[in-house]
Amino acid sequence: MTQTEYIVGVDVGGTWTRALLFETSAKAIEKIREQVDTSCDMAISDQIIKMIYNLCKRNGIAVSSLKGIGIASAGPLDSKKGLLIKPPNLPFDYVPLVEPIKQKLNVPTFLINDCAAAVLSEKEFGGGKGIKNLFYVTISTGIGSGIIIDDRLLLGEKGIAAEIGHVTVLPDGPMCGCGRRGHLEALASGTAIARWVKDKLAQGAVSTLPQNQTITTEMIANAAKSGDTLSTAALERAGRLIGQALANLLHIFNPTAIIIGGGVSQSGAILLEPMQAAMKEYTLSPSYLDNLILTRAAFGDEVGLVGALALGRSRYPYTKHNHD
Ligand SMILES: [Zn+2]
Repeated sequence: MTQTEYIVGVDVGGTWTRALLFETSAKAIEKIREQVDTSCDMAISDQIIKMIYNLCKRNGIAVSSLKGIGIASAGPLDSKKGLLIKPPNLPFDYVPLVEPIKQKLNVPTFLINDCAAAVLSEKEFGGGKGIKNLFYVTISTGIGSGIIIDDRLLLGEKGIAAEIGHVTVLPDGPMCGCGRRGHLEALASGTAIARWVKDKLAQGAVSTLPQNQTITTEMIANAAKSGDTLSTAALERAGRLIGQALANLLHIFNPTAIIIGGGVSQSGAILLEPMQAAMKEYTLSPSYLDNLILTRAAFGDEVGLVGALALGRSRYPYTKHNHD
């Protein structure tokens, strides 16, 4: 009888460190979570090691029977060196994450950002199965992407490629969270859509949305569905800008499929139709759009763990440089 083999997927979020023990078949065994240990820069790798020990112990599994550990974290991070680079939502500086875990547990360990994890989860288990050239775009409080070209995850020289949220779409436009102006994220993310609506309301725009109250993109989407013109205009504007940015990427990468995730994409056709119209308008040839698959993401909150599983399970095909 063949011995069952295991993978651990780890997701480091702004609040929680989550770890899920899987069989390599992708059957989930047990998930645990703890608040991210931010007591010092090295605490996070110790925390992950302890969580993996605990998961193994509780399930009667030897750490040596782990075949891979995949870690997904909010970026920026250097997946080649396996370190976090001052993530804005965590109080860390440059934190080596992979090396301490590999040394302690002696298990192949890989680190990628959460959008790269998302594209892997779709590639292995969602709408991207069997697709060699795949984009994942998330539109939520920020905008991010994961790109697979010829079955390889696009990482770039330092593992910081595929930042669609920070392509410039409006020079001298509003300030982005990164400190530069006019980036897509500053114009079309959930945060940006809500800010645009709030500014218009302050200027006296007519809308069914409440004045002097926090406005969420969900409220804007609901108001748009009920015919509110300001909300519709906000989502159409964001959709068009996202479509323009995607048209730029279509020219460079010519993907087979684009998978759209993130809370704001739940707004549906009001956002996605203008997006598709802009993609059509800004591409040089209809060939980029003929047979292009455009679909919604299969995973929600679990996406980091599923992607980490895909990464741990594949071991190296997507990020071969880690083994080179
Ligand atoms: Zn930016």
